[in-house]
Amino acid sequence: MNIVFASAEVAPYSKAGGLADVAGSLPQAMAPYVNSVQVLTPLYGEIDQNKYDIHPTTIRGKVALGDKVAPYSLYQTTDVDQITQIGFIRCDRFFGRDGIYTESDGEGFADNNLRYFFFQLVVLDLISSGTLPTDILHCNDHHTGLLPLMMKAMHLKVKTIFTIHNFLYHGHFSTQEISLLPKSTGPLLTKTQLDNYSALLEGIDHSDIVTTVSPGYALELLAGVNVDEYSLTRIQAVESNFYGIVNGIDTEYWSPEHDQFTPFHFSKDDLAGKRKNKAALLTKVGLSPDMDAPLLGSISRLVENKGFPLIIELLDEFVELGAKFIFLGSGSPEISDQLQKASKRHPQHIAFDDGFNEPLAHLIEAGSDMFLMPSRFEPCGLNQLYSLRYGTIPIVHSTGGLGDTVDAWTSDSGTGFVFEPYAINELRKSMELALKVYHSESDWMTLMHRAMLMDFSWDQSAKQYLHLYNLLIGGSSENI
Ligand code: ADP
Repeated sequence: MNIVFASAEVAPYSKAGGLADVAGSLPQAMAPYVNSVQVLTPLYGEIDQNKYDIHPTTIRGKVALGDKVAPYSLYQTTDVDQITQIGFIRCDRFFGRDGIYTESDGEGFADNNLRYFFFQLVVLDLISSGTLPTDILHCNDHHTGLLPLMMKAMHLKVKTIFTIHNFLYHGHFSTQEISLLPKSTGPLLTKTQLDNYSALLEGIDHSDIVTTVSPGYALELLAGVNVDEYSLTRIQAVESNFYGIVNGIDTEYWSPEHDQFTPFHFSKDDLAGKRKNKAALLTKVGLSPDMDAPLLGSISRLVENKGFPLIIELLDEFVELGAKFIFLGSGSPEISDQLQKASKRHPQHIAFDDGFNEPLAHLIEAGSDMFLMPSRFEPCGLNQLYSLRYGTIPIVHSTGGLGDTVDAWTSDSGTGFVFEPYAINELRKSMELALKVYHSESDWMTLMHRAMLMDFSWDQSAKQYLHLYNLLIGGSSENI
């Protein structure tokens, strides 16, 4: 079984969100079960080629984009095992700049459609030319949503699986832009109700199997939660081939015992290092070193659906109750401005780091007492999983993957604080309960132990993907 895994982001090389983490770890988790896994991703200008020993191969080619021809070359690094290859597609015109999707001011690149059309055409070229032997092409999100249709249009004997990491982003393109795609794809495209096209919906329509990143989110999508009526008919049309598989995590990279970015290591049996990380974190972000105050962390793209309207509303009153907050994130200027103002109002209690900062993200996971993740919706969510592993108790809205992975605290069970419905008062009650339990040391210790015992390694989820891969190539049809 030869797998090609196409993704616009792959950690640690390029990362804007959870897609990168999955693309960086799922292919490796699949490696023991298959002949080869070839990951394909763009070679962005900001990728540090020296650091990762990324070098050119002899593979190069050209693809037609309308009446123009664009050249590419394939770069490669062999990642941690012999089976997974990470291939980087180089074309400086499209990818040789800083930023993955956006300018430094957060505006999307004007030529994003063209960039990802090009990326997909190169993947098509590498597969159709036989350069990369491929039984299954695993596509991820709208940047790769047209590949299943291309495989069909070119009559390639390649099975396709399309994973939705976030249904919010469609990759809409116009009728004029169709001329940039191979001619045989045009008749297979379906217009949306907006009179344009959605690369995401095309991926759903044309792949052999569609998955999303948690069972809860799969059910929500099928029920039309946060889905317009038109898209819903297209999702429901593939219901019998639609699966929810919860994401796993890279348990070495996100490990309290070995984390390369944290000054102190710890485990559930020896939590001294966690307390030292808390002290280090408070100092690093300039908060007063009050070790008994509950410290709530947040690492997130700054977008409305991550729950910021609720959080921001509650900050002042929870500072009054003695809580401290550390926010790390970039995105919406409005949310950034509100967090900035809150940290100016309470410089000893609220810290905000506006940016993308991998080492600080690890220290926040390791040093915080709780992790705030009250997303309005969340396909899977990874930070709550990292948090559980670091004994940093998640406070989450019961939605999508958050509902699937965090159980509500009771004195006998549960791993976090879970609220429903999505409303300020419900979050307030959850945070109040979290603070109350925090101040009861033995209850908090029990809760931390329970959280740290949870296993979200890829083992289980990789086996579920393997079942699907097997289904595709006519192997076992065992249900997942
Ligand atoms: P999403 O994919 O919607 O952004 P996830 O929870 O699935 O949300 O994944 C987000 C990933 O991106 C996590 O690994 C998180 O730690 C990381 N991340 C988000 N914002 C930042 C940031 N500002 N700095 C460092 N890491 C970040």
